[in-house]
Amino acid sequence: MRNCIWMHPAPGEPPAAWQRQLAEMRAAGLDSAMVLVADGERALYDSSVLPVAAPVLEQLLPLAQAEGVALHAWIVALQCNAARILAEHGDWYSVSRRGDSSRDRPPYIDSYRWLCPTRPEVQAYLCALVDELSRFEPLAGVHLDYIRHPDVILPPALQPRYGLVQDRELPEYDFCYCSACRAAFAAQTGRDPLTLDDPAAEADWVRFRCDGIRSLVAAAADRARSRGKKLSAAVFATPSLARRYVRQQWESWDVDAVLPMIYHQYYGQPPAWIPAAVREGTEALRPGVTLHAGLFVGRLAPQELTQAIERSLSAGATGVALFASGSMTAAHWPAVRSTCRQPD
Ligand SMILES: [Zn+2]
Repeated sequence: MRNCIWMHPAPGEPPAAWQRQLAEMRAAGLDSAMVLVADGERALYDSSVLPVAAPVLEQLLPLAQAEGVALHAWIVALQCNAARILAEHGDWYSVSRRGDSSRDRPPYIDSYRWLCPTRPEVQAYLCALVDELSRFEPLAGVHLDYIRHPDVILPPALQPRYGLVQDRELPEYDFCYCSACRAAFAAQTGRDPLTLDDPAAEADWVRFRCDGIRSLVAAAADRARSRGKKLSAAVFATPSLARRYVRQQWESWDVDAVLPMIYHQYYGQPPAWIPAAVREGTEALRPGVTLHAGLFVGRLAPQELTQAIERSLSAGATGVALFASGSMTAAHWPAVRSTCRQPD
């Protein structure tokens, strides 16, 4: 995989429309697409992702193969609003330092409900979804999104939207203090995280939560690879921001590819920041893992997009990942083509 796009297939869209989209992608030099098949919002997870994923993948896979575009099944991993999980597995949800379950009192917005990565049942559940999707042929891989803790600190440009000043880790946004995490941390260190004076400054406690996500990713990667699929993940913009905001230590994950969402506007940065963020990632990343710079097309004029792609590649990215839901204009496609298309 080099250059890819996150794709939101509309249910019931006629095959001819998908065919057009795939041909447009391929002509612009995009060789892969992440296709959203499980968004964590609908009842997709009640027992299986297949009711939604199967009709989409069964239609799209042969079309994509004919166009020479590799498809990856994109799933929202830990943010979960599925009716059955909410009703039957309340204990799977992350708990804040204030003691609130994200099921009952989600932070920021009503749908911000998160599963705890430490729980063996959650691990088994996510691995089963990955396994289910990995059976599809000729799917290239599974793509994990929302594979993290909820934001203990929001990116600076988003804080005013919620009327917040998060100059430190506030208890109502700091997760996961559920009974399973407290017991596991106590078994490792002899301490209860709820008794820590300054949890943000406790390296062991920060590491515990980063390790929980990393183990879950490794288990998912095992499942995907056992069926010959790649595992990739959408991650926060840079290793340092990802660790500080959402407990992702993605530079050490056992994945095939990372797609850091270098959405400059969330951080109050100009597009010129993008290559610096790419460089931080590529320099920290494990050998053999490719980085594809995630670009927010809606905040890049065509000329800026061309420049952002060129600069990302110069900074060491293997390719780019376009987040372009509804924002690719007729002028954006040539901007992508001029930089991504390989000579025939
Ligand atoms: Zn927990």
